[in-house]
Amino acid sequence: YWRGDEKRPMLQRIYGTAWKNSKALEEYLRKLDEAKKRDHRRLGKELDLYSTSPEVGSGLILWHPKGGLVRHLTEEYCKNEHLANGYDFVYSPHIGRSDLWRTSGHLTWYEENMYAPIKIDEDEYYIKPMNCPFHIMIYKSKIRSYRDLPMRYAEWGTVYRYERSGVLHGLMRVRGFTQDDAHLFCREDQMAEEIDRVLKFCLHILRGFGINEFHAYLSTRDPEKSAGDPHRWEDATDALRNALDRAELVYDLDEGGAAFYGPKIDLKMIDALGREWQLSTIQFDFNLPERFDMVYIGEDGKQHRPYMIHRALLGSMERFMGVLIEHYGGAFPVWLSPTQVMLIPIADRHIPYAQEVAGKMKAVGIRVEVDSRSDRMNAKIRDAQHQKIPYMLVVGDREMVQGKVAPRLRSGDRLPSMDVDEIIKRIQKEIKEHV
Ligand SMILES: [Zn+2]
Repeated sequence: YWRGDEKRPMLQRIYGTAWKNSKALEEYLRKLDEAKKRDHRRLGKELDLYSTSPEVGSGLILWHPKGGLVRHLTEEYCKNEHLANGYDFVYSPHIGRSDLWRTSGHLTWYEENMYAPIKIDEDEYYIKPMNCPFHIMIYKSKIRSYRDLPMRYAEWGTVYRYERSGVLHGLMRVRGFTQDDAHLFCREDQMAEEIDRVLKFCLHILRGFGINEFHAYLSTRDPEKSAGDPHRWEDATDALRNALDRAELVYDLDEGGAAFYGPKIDLKMIDALGREWQLSTIQFDFNLPERFDMVYIGEDGKQHRPYMIHRALLGSMERFMGVLIEHYGGAFPVWLSPTQVMLIPIADRHIPYAQEVAGKMKAVGIRVEVDSRSDRMNAKIRDAQHQKIPYMLVVGDREMVQGKVAPRLRSGDRLPSMDVDEIIKRIQKEIKEHV
């Protein structure tokens, strides 16, 4: 639509590409085709992961059991890592009084992305577009000393932002989403280490999802429009730059491209097709601590302003799931696969043995199903492959007698027959190592 407004005329966009030789063109066409196959909206439906519905509303995601399980496993892994890395979990409400959003400045510079207020008694409340003001209120709930810092508040916070219907896109652009949000509060002498630490943490978590290629962006101060002390800006920018260097990340500099409230690092991943996806953001804020008059009592007994850093690591759960689906082409690694093993009895008489094997696997926490339909074996294998189940274990007369299974992978490869204990060990190892 003209200017993204669905009330205006619809436009036609024509794309063109140019290539040095036919080989480059072929490669491009192959990637386009592959991108179509990996489209998360198509796979989301085929694998029964999520849906949207006009009755619910545009840009609002319904997670189905399988997608819900992948999301749960993602969150569980991340939350445990947060706890092991010095974060504290907090919870905050979905709405807050207009005064809060006035103090934070959201009603001044972010109102067009916020939904209309709700009247409760004599007050107006807004649905939260961000979690920050709530975390600040937790910080301010008592007097903080230099000894309390650094503090790291994390929340899987669901926020709602207005997006024009013309720009909504599957899981990537939505109106309601859950951020893996955190706010770091620290002293000046802790700031550089804190940045180093948070960047390393981002990379550590993302590598746990098999994401290993990154492209970083550093956005620095625009002197024309920036809030806060220029020296703090400089120190903060140095800390970000040093952390990028120490992590040996390739990065582009966006000189003067920072928001008015602070410099930031954006971390993008490069997926299996070489496409870039925005994931983590590490964003300083020199504005909110001023607006909320955040202080801590220093060693000198005087009041000091803490440094504040917003940090989302996966970005939003919705978007990250979309990125993962496209990156893996729906073939999630074993630890994230909703169903890890499908047992395929060749004939009905093999069903009891298949169930016995499945029982052993369930007992050690492997997610397993038995395809007991009386279909032909090849049809069962095709269905399991279509569902991108990592392991198909075929059992027939020979396997039953020998107490073995004949494994096939979703790639179509076959493994030699093996003992049940052996395949269980192999799968458990892959789950543990996030292969
Ligand atoms: Zn924030």
